[in-house]
This record gives sequence, C-alpha cells and structure tokens, in this order.
Amino acid sequence: MSLSPLWTDIEWNRDGRQGSFLNLEHSVHRSAYGLVSIPVSLFKNGSGPTLLLMAGSHGDEYEGQAILTRLIQTLDYRAISGRIIVLPAANLPAAMEGTRTSPLDAGNLNRCFGDMFSDSPTSRIANYITNVILPMCDVVFDFHSGGSSLDYLPCTYASVSGDSQTVAQTLAALEFMNAPIAWIHKGIPQGPEAGRAAYRQDVMYLSGEFGGGGRISRRATWVAERAIYRLMAHLDLAPLPPEWGEPLEARLMTASQSHYFYADHDGVFEPAADLGDDVRKGELAGTIFNPETPARPATQVTFPGSGIWICARAIGRVRRGDCLGHLLTDISREEILVANNEQ
Ligand SMILES: [Zn+2]
Repeated sequence: MSLSPLWTDIEWNRDGRQGSFLNLEHSVHRSAYGLVSIPVSLFKNGSGPTLLLMAGSHGDEYEGQAILTRLIQTLDYRAISGRIIVLPAANLPAAMEGTRTSPLDAGNLNRCFGDMFSDSPTSRIANYITNVILPMCDVVFDFHSGGSSLDYLPCTYASVSGDSQTVAQTLAALEFMNAPIAWIHKGIPQGPEAGRAAYRQDVMYLSGEFGGGGRISRRATWVAERAIYRLMAHLDLAPLPPEWGEPLEARLMTASQSHYFYADHDGVFEPAADLGDDVRKGELAGTIFNPETPARPATQVTFPGSGIWICARAIGRVRRGDCLGHLLTDISREEILVANNEQ
C-alpha cells in the first residue's frame, strides 16, 4: 500500500489559526506505514501577502526553532492582514536529533533544493516546500546559524538578482528588518539551497545567520526576532510593535570565495582575533598546533582579505579542509545596484 508520500490536513485558504503537521511517509521495519509528522502552523486573516517562516532546516541551528515556536504560541491571527505559514522544524528528524543532517538518510535539507528531487525523506520535504508551499508565498524568511561547527555574528542574508525593481524590493526589506549587519550576495543563487527554489518560484528569499556554536545566544535571538516583526510590518502583514521600532545602526556587507579561509592540515586551531573584529589582509588569524606531534612547527593562518570577522569555527580541533571562518566587507546600496545591472 502507498498513499501520498507527504500530506497534511491544513486548509491553506481558510481564515483563522491552524496547527497541524506535514505527514511524511517513512516505511521502516518497525513501522511499515509510519509517519514523520513535521509541525506546520498557519495564521490567516483576510487578504494580504503570504509569508513563510522556516527554521530547523539544519537541526543543530536552534535560534529560529525557538523563536518560531514562541511566535506560534503568541501570534494572534486577528492582528494580521494576510497569511503566515510557519515551519519551526522543517527537517524534523534532524531537529529532534540536534544534528545538521537527518538521521534517516543523512540528508541536508538546505542542500536538497536543487533542480531535481529524489525519493529520500529529506528530498521529499524539499520537494513539498518547493512545489506546494512556495507557490503560495510572496516572501520566505529562512532561519539559519552556524550550527555546531561555526559561530556567526547575527546577520540577515539575501541574494539579490533579477530586474532592478526586484533588487530594490529585496534591499528595502533587508533595510527595514534592520539587523546590525545585512549580508548581500550578488547574483542568482546557484547552489541547491532554499534560495534557489525561491528564485525559481519567483518568491523573495530572505534569510539570516543568527549565531551558532551549538547553543543559543540571547543577542542572536533578539536580532532574529526583531527582524521577523519588522519584516511583517514592512510587508503590511501586521503593525510594528513599539518594542521593535527603534532603528539601529546597520551595515550592508558582502563576501566572495576569497573571504573564506580553511585549515590546510589537521590540528588544534587557536584564533588570534575575536568574532566581530575588523581585520586586515595578511594579519594573523590564528595558529594550528599539533599536540600529537609537539615538535612539529605550528602553522600560522593569515586573513585572506580585509573586513569584519563574521563567522568563526566553533570547534577547536580541525581537519584539513575545515572552514576556519570568513569575512564580510562593506558594500554600498549603489554598488549593489550597479553590480546587478552588470550581471
Ligand atoms: Zn543552516
């Protein structure tokens, strides 16, 4: 027997508040007709834009999971104009395990949004989000962080591509969300990530890296939660609560591959600067020691560029190829618009 591989009793167009599940068939030895029930909530009131709030794509990124769970418990659908769909633990098996990838199939949900889908549980979730949920949406806000192995200064993130009006709308949303740092990626999303699925479905994709290091920081959840309520106000979905109204000083920043740096052999990495420091190209980023062969000379790692150290490895032990972190550099609104016109 096989019914639909993923189904829900949510009525997407009904006004009110609904809380239910996306039921994913997962047939295994101990449960031939078993389900993985992924929580989904829907808040709808009249007409207006549709916003998807999604967290737990990576199960060890806890900030979004916590604040979307709080939002589900506190949001009054009568106070909004439009529709909000909330997936607080999109890759539920990974979220319950507290791991980046799913224990069911080792699937990395945010690498399953490529142009092809498979029958694995994680790919089926990506397929459903891409082909059923995203077509209903105007905007998606997808919550990420550094997870277990990386730590980020909390920042919002978006790819900007397409015509000048689309780029201006994305920039306006980021600027109103008013995170201390907005990280702009110029160009069409090429990787198999949710941003690419949103691009294909013509949905504005907003994201963020809100902390990490295998824990939740108060600062990161504050920046992320503030960004949600400011985005809802920007989209005319809900009035701006006064506690989130005070504007902050904010920077538009960007990165390229040359801003990332990696371990070139195994060892223990001791950083020479702190997350958030302004650093210069060629300055010491840290040292890789080899406690297992203490006579071997330590290796010094230098910063590959100049900018702010936005992301750092959160685990001391490193292997060759591990990302030790990356930088962001300032970019102006005008540079983003010019760069977009040159694509
Ligand atoms: Zn992530």
